[in-house]
Amino acid sequence: MSQIQTILYVFAHPDDETFSCGGTICHFHQLGMKQTLFCATHGEAGKTGNPQLYTQNELGNVRLQELQNALSILGMDRLIIRNWGDGRLSEQPFLSIVNELHSVMEEIRPDRVITFPPSGISGHPDHKVIQKATIAAIQKISFPIKLYYIVIPESIAHLSSVPVLFTPDEYVSEKIDVTPYHKKIIQALSAHKNQHLSVEKIFSGIFVRLHGSTA
Ligand SMILES: [Zn+2]
Repeated sequence: MSQIQTILYVFAHPDDETFSCGGTICHFHQLGMKQTLFCATHGEAGKTGNPQLYTQNELGNVRLQELQNALSILGMDRLIIRNWGDGRLSEQPFLSIVNELHSVMEEIRPDRVITFPPSGISGHPDHKVIQKATIAAIQKISFPIKLYYIVIPESIAHLSSVPVLFTPDEYVSEKIDVTPYHKKIIQALSAHKNQHLSVEKIFSGIFVRLHGSTA
């Protein structure tokens, strides 16, 4: 029996965790690992949905609540969220972000850190900043750690309905079968209610599957 491991996920926006690795979070929860998400912003610059239910000013608080709902579905144990400005991470003092992440890592002492690859997958500048800051923070820590990037391998490029940056398959070191968690992934995507336009674009037809499976 392996000892309980601790995982720290580092992302920029509420929904990055579900969009990029919801099944991975479910998987490690199932294995009894202790998981924390560090989210750098409240996602207040995101879409407001159609019909629009909230103003852009209200969106940050709403998305925080949606994130908490999604995390409880996926099995995340703890959320650490900052308010560094959606779309404005590159305007923040880089060293402040690094120091903050460093102190979180020293407190949690994760065995694994999971974040975006340098491409940011979607190429969003916030994703790239948080990835760079994660690397810089890891270089300062006082204990061994394993760093993983969530990537989309080239071999499944044809399945994507949106432009994303892929990674050659030979660089993929670990794959996790998330088919047992499809329902939970769909529920967590649905919890990000105000992002339904993005969810429908990226995971086309997914709400039909949710409603079909619960009917
Ligand atoms: Zn994002």
